Amino acid sequence: MALIHCPSCAKRISDKAPFCPHCQFARTDDPESLERAARIRQIKHNQSLMTHSFIALFAFVGGFALWWWGGEAADGWRAPAGIGLMSAGFVGYLITRVRIVLAKRSKG
Ligand SMILES: [Zn+2]
Repeated sequence: MALIHCPSCAKRISDKAPFCPHCQFARTDDPESLERAARIRQIKHNQSLMTHSFIALFAFVGGFALWWWGGEAADGWRAPAGIGLMSAGFVGYLITRVRIVLAKRSKG
């Protein structure tokens, strides 16, 4: 028994399995189905990247709101919490943007 990569979700599955146990993709040698599966995987990957960038943006805005609530810089626990959330959101957003660019470039 050998392990191969599922054409749909790219997880490792047995070459004897007729279905992928992770995504229920029916294994096939038909190039058209394989290409369609690859395209669906690409779309799902792009969607998850978009979700990540929304979460990061939300964290950034939320952190700013926490820090700058009421029009002045917060003191006490809200300052480090807000600035921390804002930085995490900003860095996360940048990383996600880079990953989106790389994903687009690798597509050809
Ligand atoms: Zn799969």
